[in-house]
Amino acid sequence: MNAGDTIAAISTPLGEGGIGIVRMSGPRAVEIAESVFRPTRKIRLSQVPSHTIHHGFILDGEIKLDEVLVTVMRAPRTYTREDVVEINCHGGIAAVRAVLDLLLRTGARLAERGEFTKRAFLNGRISLDQAQAVLDAVRAQTRLGLEAAVAKIGGRFRDEVESLRDRIAALLADIEVGIDYPDVDAETDPLLPAVRALRDKVEELEQRAARGRVVREGLVAAIVGRPNVGKSTLLNAILAEERAIVTPIPGTTRDTVEEVVEVEGIPVRVIDTAGLRPPTDAVEEEGVRRAARAIDRADLILLLLDRSCPLTPDDQALLDREWKKPVILVLNKSDLPPAFTRDELDPSPYLGVYEISAQTGAGVDELMSGLVAAVLAGGIPAAGTFLLLDAWEQDLLRRTGDALARAAAALESGVTPDIVAEELRVAYREAGKLQGIDVSEDILSHIFSRFCVGK
Ligand code: GDP
Repeated sequence: MNAGDTIAAISTPLGEGGIGIVRMSGPRAVEIAESVFRPTRKIRLSQVPSHTIHHGFILDGEIKLDEVLVTVMRAPRTYTREDVVEINCHGGIAAVRAVLDLLLRTGARLAERGEFTKRAFLNGRISLDQAQAVLDAVRAQTRLGLEAAVAKIGGRFRDEVESLRDRIAALLADIEVGIDYPDVDAETDPLLPAVRALRDKVEELEQRAARGRVVREGLVAAIVGRPNVGKSTLLNAILAEERAIVTPIPGTTRDTVEEVVEVEGIPVRVIDTAGLRPPTDAVEEEGVRRAARAIDRADLILLLLDRSCPLTPDDQALLDREWKKPVILVLNKSDLPPAFTRDELDPSPYLGVYEISAQTGAGVDELMSGLVAAVLAGGIPAAGTFLLLDAWEQDLLRRTGDALARAAAALESGVTPDIVAEELRVAYREAGKLQGIDVSEDILSHIFSRFCVGK
């Protein structure tokens, strides 16, 4: 990438819409726009004040391509810190494509994926984690996910990392002094509690990130039960009660037996394992295998029983099974007279026991809220208490924490301060990568390639 050139891309989704925006960024953005723009009023884009909007037409030679509004934003108060021009076209594919094509013929280059945001990062306007949070905001499926992403864009995580690094640097400075004056009293040395405090801080960040994972990726719940207990009916009832999320979460496929709903701001993917069983015997085995896989990737199991008939050996087998993950017991068909009492079931292995009627929808809402609350143990996270980190950031945080833990262990065993300092330097360096310091071009490309063109 060459930061000196001027890039252009369509920044709105392709398709029919109210407006479509073509965005340009770089030193020639205003000049290129001016050369293809015929304003309604007698102005020149190169002369207008920054952050102003102008009506007119985009001309390809003498052909009017579209009636537009052009926004001129001059560096440095822009998204990329470069000159930025946004051309608001009429929605629709033809208009934006024609305008983009003209800009490319007039001296702009087509932007790579995420290149606008990458420039914002390279020009120092945002940190790397803020750039990533932009992607989270774009991809957010729920209100809670969006709030967390916006908080990260606002620098919440960056501030935490910055203060962490400052504290590590201060400790390193103390050790340097200690190395110069080796007769400092080790008993009263405040170094150990300080290193432990840093290690605990990183642990806390890691825990908040783990909760953030749930907000970002959602929960997977598999409905299991013998035939006819009402699994499919329950999936439909959940869809009727909760807000369905129509766009699939990236990286996963959707089929008819799997739906995503939003519960208390958390995306919950519900899998009906009955639907995973194809009707014919020939492929029965495949169905069983798919159900097993669904159970494998579930965060928790909804074990469904039909309360209106006595428990069968099949029910009992499921109750006795070692699930190795949290199970919520769901007693269905509460609208019918019960055939057994709750006392006959031992509730202790379960995260909760709920009575519902999948048919009437009674109790389904409580079940879903209970499910989310139980998994987040300690309640649903308020937007302020969790962090959205991607796998790369979580890994860096883990390395930082590991180095601090080694530093603490070294101090406890009474080694010389220079060894401790070495671990602290590792922690400082790894935490620095979280701020985008010393990050290789490979990693940068990887991060920004996940963006769409035009962002
Ligand atoms: P699956 O085989 O576990 O997926 O079960 P289905 O969802 O196909 O349901 C089996 C039968 O039970 C159907 O006839 C449903 O209408 C009925 N059923 C499901 N839930 C309820 C319920 O809450 N109350 C009543 N009365 N019938 C239900």
